[in-house]
Amino acid sequence: MSGRNAAIIGGGIGGLAAAVALRRTGWDVTVYERAPGFTEVGAGISLWPNALRALDRLGLLADVLDVAEREAAGGAKDRRGRWLTRVTSDELERRFGCPLVVLHRADLLKVLLKALPGEVLRPGVTVTRAPEADLVVAADGLRSTTRAGLWPDVRPRYAGHTAWRMVTRPLPALGEGAVVWGRGERFGYASLPGGSVYCFGTATVPEGGVTPGGELPEVLRRFGAWPQPIPALLDAVPAEAVLRHDLYDLPPLPSFVRGATVLLGDAAHAMTPSLGQGGCQALEDAVVLADCLAGVADVPAGLARYDALRRPRTQAIVSRSARLNTIGQIGWAPAAAIRDLVARLTPAAVVLHSMAPVIGFRV
Ligand SMILES: Cc1cc2nc3c(=O)[nH]c(=O)nc-3n(C[C@H](O)[C@H](O)[C@H](O)COP(=O)(O)OP(=O)(O)OC[C@H]3O[C@@H](n4cnc5c(N)ncnc54)[C@H](O)[C@@H]3O)c2cc1C
Repeated sequence: MSGRNAAIIGGGIGGLAAAVALRRTGWDVTVYERAPGFTEVGAGISLWPNALRALDRLGLLADVLDVAEREAAGGAKDRRGRWLTRVTSDELERRFGCPLVVLHRADLLKVLLKALPGEVLRPGVTVTRAPEADLVVAADGLRSTTRAGLWPDVRPRYAGHTAWRMVTRPLPALGEGAVVWGRGERFGYASLPGGSVYCFGTATVPEGGVTPGGELPEVLRRFGAWPQPIPALLDAVPAEAVLRHDLYDLPPLPSFVRGATVLLGDAAHAMTPSLGQGGCQALEDAVVLADCLAGVADVPAGLARYDALRRPRTQAIVSRSARLNTIGQIGWAPAAAIRDLVARLTPAAVVLHSMAPVIGFRV
């Protein structure tokens, strides 16, 4: 089967993982990336056991674990800083074989890039027409032009809130990460290697907002008086480290495939980050795509199998993320109080059990 060539549009997590996976099964690949280099914005990313298993299939698990922080525990807290639900990494590992890890996005990309020879990478190329190839992988993200050309009616929908992301300067050990649920606002934090901490805040606001005078003052205004360690973390955030992005997901597509073109990652199934699964699903996609095409002469038949395997799973996770998002962003005080009570009364074992279909998945 060697000698077949794949053009990959987009050199984010999904595109690079697809390049690694396809090369391992004998494809010649070329990755086109519109940015002048292959890099990611300065924030962290959490990878769940399902993603670590996919990375293992790519032969990259050890490299990723080398640059990742294994979280001791995580969960949700109420606005006063009391645990509502808490799961330890030991429990995760016992049940799912891998922990939850958090790392710099740029470090994840570096690991993927190291597995690819330089000559397959074409930075600074914006693809406007599908390249000639036996297979075209559109991994061009939420605003995929390939998808817009094939399914123009399916457009990203605003989730109703924005997210600020930031990485602190190195700090004394943080211990356990958490997401604190407020009313119409959330704030989460998790340790990164080297002592810095990845933080994010969300707020229900109209689409397209920017804060005049910078985003750090806005983050401090909203979250500066939240329970510790949030004020201490915000003290250690350099002003230029705060990124702001409105959050979107994608309505279900009727197919991820058209002819020899296949959608992968956010281009196919962008989701809100409530479950921390967008990148994890892109990694699963990459492995499944290569599996479906390995040793198969008929590319459309292999892609039909990819569509059948990936579309139901990822679209269910998009919906689940959206539901969790709605719950996490509840703004009405009585409803938020009921949400917190239900979370507090739910045993960790039940939480883990409910996560099994998502994070227990084996590619
Ligand atoms: C606030 C936030 C927090 C998140 N947290 C997590 C988390 O903790 N865990 C997790 O797993 N996921 C998380 N995600 C989701 C995750 O970031 C995405 O799912 C993931 O980055 C998708 O990767 P991708 O490669 O599909 O798309 P992208 O990362 O968007 O990459 C697409 C690439 O294609 C390039 N491109 C676009 N158009 C063209 C073109 N025409 N020609 C050439 N190149 C092009 C772009 O420049 C880009 O590099 C989070 C997302 C957000 C917004």
